[in-house]
Amino acid sequence: RVLAIGEVIVEIMATSLGRGFSEPIALVGPFPSGAPTIFIDQVARLGVPASMVGAVGNDDFGLLLRERLACDGVDIVGLRSIQHAATGSAFVRYRPDGDRDFVFNIHDSAAARVVLDEKTRSVIAQCHHVHIMGSSLFSPQMVSVIQAAVDDVKKRGGSVSFDPNGRKEMLDKPGMRDALMGFLAQTDLFLPSGEELTALTQAQDEAGALAELLDLGISAVVIKRGGAGASYCDRQTRIDVPGLKVNEIDPTGAGDCFGATFVACWLTGRIPEECLRLANASGAMAVTRRGPMEGTASMVELEAFLATRMIEMN
Ligand code: ATP
Repeated sequence: RVLAIGEVIVEIMATSLGRGFSEPIALVGPFPSGAPTIFIDQVARLGVPASMVGAVGNDDFGLLLRERLACDGVDIVGLRSIQHAATGSAFVRYRPDGDRDFVFNIHDSAAARVVLDEKTRSVIAQCHHVHIMGSSLFSPQMVSVIQAAVDDVKKRGGSVSFDPNGRKEMLDKPGMRDALMGFLAQTDLFLPSGEELTALTQAQDEAGALAELLDLGISAVVIKRGGAGASYCDRQTRIDVPGLKVNEIDPTGAGDCFGATFVACWLTGRIPEECLRLANASGAMAVTRRGPMEGTASMVELEAFLATRMIEMN
């Protein structure tokens, strides 16, 4: 059973390109979102037991999130509904250069009210793998709940995956780099983007960064490269896959779907090459749908998507 802990939020997205939020824009949403939420939903869609620890408001957005996660097969016993606190939210707008502007309302929302009570502990106790998202380490309280889960799972011989999922400005927040490095030392499977890989290490290039991370005791590093595909590296193996050609509608959530599919395949004993091939397909499928979590897919859908690609390529 895989566990994700962190922000369960709704997201409202701009429908056209633009700069910032100062000019009038058409919006679409709310969509279910939050990096760990998208991740755990994709794990469940693949039929791997999945639990979410988080918090939403006792409002309609909270209800939307609870219903969607439960419907996709995520265990939501650890998802609290908080009275008198609004469900967390985010606004996203795409710039013409491909960058994104985000406005988050998480810190002062229900999403920040995750506590290590008896219910949370009992959900943690049923899980054998914890996935950490850098975006969820936004308060000392979140860091301590996630650390407790890592300690508990590790004590029972379980494993940890970690996606730093960090915007650059996040690394400059006081304490954030230390929190990220602390979790890195406890990670089995690390899933950064190419940029995050070098930003988090002292190394000048990717090869140096990989060597540094594997020396820390990480078993494998999986690098996400957007439309250019992805790579897998451990001490013996290096595998690269090119990106699949797709019509990109919305890039948000691709990394979370990719990570979830890699982790689910890795935990169910597939070889790294297969994990990477399916994760690459999962990320590519995610960008073809509007909405952060609307591109999650079942194994049958992923295999069918890959089969279509093979026919097109031949
Ligand atoms: P995000 O933070 O938006 O979730 P990320 O930076 O963590 O994204 P990406 O590298 O953008 O992750 O995407 C993850 C994976 O999804 C890529 O490594 C690739 O396999 C697939 N992918 C992403 N974008 C595309 C695309 N335009 N075409 C094909 N595959 C893509």
